[in-house]
Amino acid sequence: MNSLYIDGRWLSPAGRELMPVINPATEEVIGSIVDADDRDVAAAFAAARRALPEWSARPVGERAAYLDALAGALRDNGERLAVLAASEIGMPLAESRGVQVALPEAVLRSTAQAARDLDWEYRDISESTVLREPVGVVLGITPWNFPVHQLVAKLAPALAAGCTIVLKPAELTPLNALFLAELCDQVGLPAGVVNLVTGRGSTTGEKLVQSRAYDLVSFTGSLAVGRHIGAVAGDRVVRATLELGGKSPAVVMDDADLEAAVRTTVRNCFTNAGQKCNAPTRLIVPETDRSRAMGIATAAAAEYRLGDPLDPGTTMGPMASDMQRDKVLRYVDGARERGATVAGGRRADRPTGFFVEPAVITDVDEADPVVQEEIFGPVLVILGHQGEADAIRIANDTPYGLSAELWSADPAQTARLVRGIRAGQVRVNGVRSPHPPVAPFGGYKASGLGRELGAFGLEEYLEVKAVLGTFEGEAG
Ligand code: NAD
Repeated sequence: MNSLYIDGRWLSPAGRELMPVINPATEEVIGSIVDADDRDVAAAFAAARRALPEWSARPVGERAAYLDALAGALRDNGERLAVLAASEIGMPLAESRGVQVALPEAVLRSTAQAARDLDWEYRDISESTVLREPVGVVLGITPWNFPVHQLVAKLAPALAAGCTIVLKPAELTPLNALFLAELCDQVGLPAGVVNLVTGRGSTTGEKLVQSRAYDLVSFTGSLAVGRHIGAVAGDRVVRATLELGGKSPAVVMDDADLEAAVRTTVRNCFTNAGQKCNAPTRLIVPETDRSRAMGIATAAAAEYRLGDPLDPGTTMGPMASDMQRDKVLRYVDGARERGATVAGGRRADRPTGFFVEPAVITDVDEADPVVQEEIFGPVLVILGHQGEADAIRIANDTPYGLSAELWSADPAQTARLVRGIRAGQVRVNGVRSPHPPVAPFGGYKASGLGRELGAFGLEEYLEVKAVLGTFEGEAG
């Protein structure tokens, strides 16, 4: 298997250990990759550095046109990509079509538009000229849960900004990334603008991060690895954007439609079997409604049909790996042992695959690990609040601040909740994801640094230069 795309060429180095890629529903091997070594890492960065001057000098419209072309290629190859991604991650095919194809296509197009709309050069009131310039060579490291989207959320702004990039996808789900690199090749991106290397985090990932060859590292993944990458970047004073975990609240007030709020929260929490950084995993309802909410959520959870992601009747696939399944079961069993009320949350009775029944938990202490820590599985915890101030307190009472959902019929109360909750994105009364996907996405607190998508996402890949004095630039 060719698993390294460096300088516009596919490489399949001989004599290397092959790491299998497993379908988490069937446990079959569906591909393999190599662990990129020091030479591959050096070659990828050298190619990206060589390609930088020519690529960054191209007019922005030309760079944007490549993103549009890549969006078109994604759409044309959408079904193959959706099936491939569903087979690697275990995500039901209908979800895969939306998140792995339609969303990245829209991100490519909207980022191209954001680049066209950006003020790349302007005179300010001090008569200085302000220039925006690409930050340089980017290292992008991504996780496995929404793999195509997460790669594109780095590749699109990097290329639009005039940067070149070295990408490392998660070792659990590299095949969709190789497919994406093939599409980059097909649309004729110049050699070295996009490079892709595969491998484990502890080996290839670490070599990439420890190299001194990048100007920005953009990481999406766990808090532990994000902390480490942020520390390495800080030590070298290179920019780092970190999209990390979450333990997002869904706050329901006593004037809201409880049934709609609970059912929507269950759906949003269990998308991709709960393997979603912004999943609302803590449902915070009035204490007097807690037992009714538990009944509604338990009934909604029981409606899920676990099965093969490619079967159209399936509404929940397996966990992405056996490790992830075991981690989820450990959390749920722990809560049960500590006296919580738990519906579901057992290992599913199926011949193959890393399946877990969705779980709803209540009667649990606010300090319990299932309330405080990111589980990354289909586990919803229900907590009770004593009114607005208490609801805000509980919503903010974790290390994370990625997103929040609010349910209230009172606009003034909604406004106070919106401002009181420390999170990068707040959804009011079940509104769907924004389209086009340009609303800034990223976290407060331990959920990360920086934003992705739209104009804010693009800014992360740009330096700002102030020119004082006469300058024959475009805005001069
Ligand atoms: P992870 O941190 O284990 O791995 C993410 C990536 O980092 C993988 O490519 C991995 O190979 C690599 N990596 C691991 N160790 C490394 C090291 N020492 N040096 C360099 N690279 C290394 O995370 P995961 O388990 O793949 O993904 C799940 C996590 O991602 C969850 O915590 C989730 O919340 C988070 N996530 C965040 C967002 C967001 O936008 N905020 C989106 C999706 C997932």
